[in-house]
Amino acid sequence: MKHPTHDMPLMRTAPGTIVLFHPYVPEAALSSVADTLASRWIGQGPKVDLFERTFANRFAPRSSAIAVGSGTDALHLAYILAGLKPGDEVIAPVFTCTATNIPFLYMGVRIRFADVQADTLNIDPRHVKDLVNEKTRAIVCVHYGGLPCDLDELHSIANQWGIPVIEDAAHALGATYKGRSIGAISPMTMFSFQAIKHITTGDGGMLTLTDSSLESAARRIRWFGIDREAKQNGIWDNDITEIGYKYQMTDIGASMGLAALESFDSVLYHRMQLMEEYKHGLQGIPGISVLGSDYADREHACWLCTVSVESRRELQRKLYEHGVETNQVHYRNDRYSIFGGRRVDLPNMDRIEDKYLVLPLHHKVSLEDVQHICDLIRGGW
Ligand SMILES: *Cc1c(COP(=O)(O)O)cnc(C)c1O
Repeated sequence: MKHPTHDMPLMRTAPGTIVLFHPYVPEAALSSVADTLASRWIGQGPKVDLFERTFANRFAPRSSAIAVGSGTDALHLAYILAGLKPGDEVIAPVFTCTATNIPFLYMGVRIRFADVQADTLNIDPRHVKDLVNEKTRAIVCVHYGGLPCDLDELHSIANQWGIPVIEDAAHALGATYKGRSIGAISPMTMFSFQAIKHITTGDGGMLTLTDSSLESAARRIRWFGIDREAKQNGIWDNDITEIGYKYQMTDIGASMGLAALESFDSVLYHRMQLMEEYKHGLQGIPGISVLGSDYADREHACWLCTVSVESRRELQRKLYEHGVETNQVHYRNDRYSIFGGRRVDLPNMDRIEDKYLVLPLHHKVSLEDVQHICDLIRGGW
């Protein structure tokens, strides 16, 4: 491997340390889960339905929301609904969680990795334009860290070729693009409620669909290909005509999700304040800059605060020694053998790959913590 990495070990939670991630489980989740555990439904039942409705009302009012077992499930389901078949090509981000791209390997779909924009780490529409061709069946983007991608540019390319944009919004709950909520813009958008995302259901995900004609297929494929409602009403004809799988969310998870949605606005607000504090605190320090922080036409969901920094390992070590955990979180996917080897046409990714670093930003981090981290950085590394 060309770029061996030696990551810092996971930091233990101890007084005085500032860890990189911490799950957000509000007090209200405890009683909400207890109620569900004492009820008739603990698998997929009425709480899942309610969570879907509540989620759609908040983030995608005119869309269908399909709750699933993970963000990865939501992506796999989206790719099936997009009709992707072996031999098809998709354009997908090289820099993302591997979950964005692994379902394609199951499906025999060929991935054309698109480069990042050096200043946001989001997919670069200019490279997408170079890559798109008559075999391309979808364009996938990830709103890295919570900053929405250049959706107008991506949609314009997709419309020209008559293909969908599929959004991986695992980082972007609560983000907006030109006044519209992420989740309500592209035909399909995926969210994740994995342990360390904005809100968590233990593990879980949501797929929002702006085209309601896909909803019933989505619900069937989520459950083996069976029309569950018809079955429960006793009117199912006992045939399965499309191959589904088991992608559903449980009522236990949905209870956590419902409780977390109640306080989501304050969670998001806190994250936005921390991001502002980082921007302010790191301003003017040579060799470091906050990525993707200055857009007037979109709202950042502030899941990650990522900096571009010279001598990354030295800064990471200094912060670690002062009890501050940092990490790269995601890596360029073409470093993993399963994706077929390192690509040579990703100059921006090449330039940034040894420079980016994620700083702590979550509900357990305070404004004072961020000031402390910025002071440490200002002291040099
Ligand atoms: C977390 C994440 C996923 C996967 O979601 P899971 O719920 O863990 O399956 C996909 N894409 C991105 C960008 C993520 O951060």
